[in-house]
Formats: sequence, structure tokens, C-alpha cells
Amino acid sequence: PFDVLVVGGGPAGASAAIYAARKGIRTGVVADRFGGQVADTVGIENFISVPYTEGPKLVAHLEEHVKEYDVDVMKAQKAVGVRKTDSGLTEVELSNGAVLSGKSVILATGARWREMNVPGEQEYRNKGVAYCPHCDGPLFKGKKVAVIGGGNSGIEAAIDLAGIVEHVTVLEFSDTLRADAVLVKKAESLPNVEIIKQAMTTEVLGDGQRVTGLQYKDRETDETHIVELAGIFVQIGLVPNTEFLKDTVTLTERGEVVIDDHGQTSIPGIFAAGDCTNVPYKQIIISMGAGATAALGAFDHLIRN
Ligand code: FAD
Repeated sequence: PFDVLVVGGGPAGASAAIYAARKGIRTGVVADRFGGQVADTVGIENFISVPYTEGPKLVAHLEEHVKEYDVDVMKAQKAVGVRKTDSGLTEVELSNGAVLSGKSVILATGARWREMNVPGEQEYRNKGVAYCPHCDGPLFKGKKVAVIGGGNSGIEAAIDLAGIVEHVTVLEFSDTLRADAVLVKKAESLPNVEIIKQAMTTEVLGDGQRVTGLQYKDRETDETHIVELAGIFVQIGLVPNTEFLKDTVTLTERGEVVIDDHGQTSIPGIFAAGDCTNVPYKQIIISMGAGATAALGAFDHLIRN
């Protein structure tokens, strides 16, 4: 068995692997897609001490740094189950049927964008339906777009996009915006941003090639409206990649792995870090710190057991 088996190869997993390997213990990483969300990111300006970098470049650096150590990196491998054995080891089952085991395991499976689950969303994904304003905003220069969701990420996206596109319509499901007041004030001050509340998006419309509009229902009047536009930015939150853990460790209502201040989950010997956990903020630098904490927590566990 591995001493430390890390599941996930984003910033949290990479950091955990490096911290574990530096203790001279047998370390493995299984990752569906090495780099995680960072691989989908364009500009990164808040990775402290690096004023500007780009996702793919940071992923290459992460991998290079992990490879400085004796870490067994297993890419393109998806974990489908985790269980504790009678002997105290933790087994991780992969989608190809293989089973890996660790004296300790660190879960760092991150998160993904929440989808609207309406007709047209999948069909027009990357043909007008987008999830990342930083990545795809410039593609809609001078066009009309919508942002779905009035939380911080939605309102931030609207402010960001307003500087690039012709017009932004924000559609919020409830009757209030959950975003911070300063952001709401800023968005409301922009002449090309319109905010519609109580709006339930019901369909993405297109011409077979690209998005041409969306349909929403006014939840107050039950009336259906159509907005003509070229792009739809879905900003309704992140879903942790923890479905395969629901019978193993304690999760929050939102599916986040609950950890303590040593990064340990509800099961001794199983640790977690990064966006898949109940940390309040989801960022690269925070995930890396959490990965380090989990690895040190795991090491502590190993020397005591
Ligand atoms: P992730 O990066 O999500 O990595 C999860 C890893 O687990 C991946 O390797 C994945 O393939 C793997 N995995 C998932 N499920 C399984 C499974 N079942 N079996 C095996 N492996 C699995 N943060 C910033 O600080 N600055 C920014 O500018 C910034 N911009 C962003 C832009 C975009 C478009 C996105 C999407 C995110 C951005 N973030 C930014 C957030 C940042 O990317 C995340 O907080 C960070 O990547 C979280 O790291 P993580 O390691 O916890 O998870």
C-alpha cells in the first residue's frame, strides 16, 4: 500500500503529494485530469508572488514540481469508491476495476460548475453557453449576453462582461440578489447591465449552430419571456466532485467533505483538501495550503498508528 494516496491532481492534490513525498514516505496520486480547474483557467493574477500566469502554464509547473519527487502519478484514472478495510487500510476503487490502497488517503477531487439542466444547455455548450467569463468573455465582444445567477460570481461576471460586451442581462431565480452589496451597487450603476429577479431560465434557444436567445419564466406572473442574445454565462455555483464518497465520509448538505483543522475527515486516516471540502473560499492558493495541511495531518496520523 501507499503511505499516502492522494485522489485528485489539482492544486490541492499536487501540494499534498509534494508535502507527503518530502517526508520520504511512499506517495501516489490518482487523477482523472491532472491540473483540475486550473487547466481551464486563462489569466491568474492572485497566485501570490507570481503577478501573472496562465492556467496551462501553472499546471505544467505543478506537474514539474511533483515530478521532482518520487511520486507515483496515475493520470486519467477515476476513483469510483473509497472504503476502509478491517486491517485499517483505505481502499480506493478505480473505474477500470483496479483497487489501490493507502495507509492514509487524501481526497482532493475539487469541484465543477453547476449546470442549469434546461433544454438546449448541453446542445449549445461552447456554442454560446459558457461557464467561465474570464475565459470566454472576449468571444462575445460587442454582443448581447446573459448571466444566470445573482450571487457573487454572477454579479462579478456581469460587471466584468459589461466592459466587453454590448449588454448584459442578469437573471436571478429568487427575489433578492445574494451578492455583496458593493457588487450589486456597482452592477446597478452600469448602463448596459439589466437585472431581472424572480426569473427561472427554462430553455436555451439556438439556430442549430449557435445560441440565439433564452426563454425564462417570470415566477411572479408565470409569464414566459424571450431574450435575444449570443451568449449565456451560467454562474449558479460549484458542485463538489464527491458523489462517490457519499457512503464513506461525512458530507455537508451541499456535498462538501467535512474536515477538521488537520484536514481530517470523519474517518481517521482519510483526509481531504481544497474545493471538495467545506472551506469557505475556493481558490488556488487556499487549496494548496489545504493540501499541505492534509499531508502533514496524514503524516502525523501515520507516525501515531
Ligand atoms: P480542482 O482544481 O478541481 O482539481 C480536482 C482534481 O481532482 C482534478 O485533477 C480532477 O481531475 C480530479 N478528480 C475529480 N474527481 C475525481 C475522481 N473521482 N477520481 C480521480 N480524480 C478526480 N482560483 C484562483 O485562485 N485564482 C483564479 O484566477 C481562478 N480562476 C478560476 C477560473 C476558472 C475558469 C475556474 C474553473 C476556477 C478558477 N479558480 C481560480 C479556482 C481554482 O481553480 C480552484 O479553487 C482550484 O483549482 C481548486 O483546486 P483543487 O485541487 O481543490 O480542485
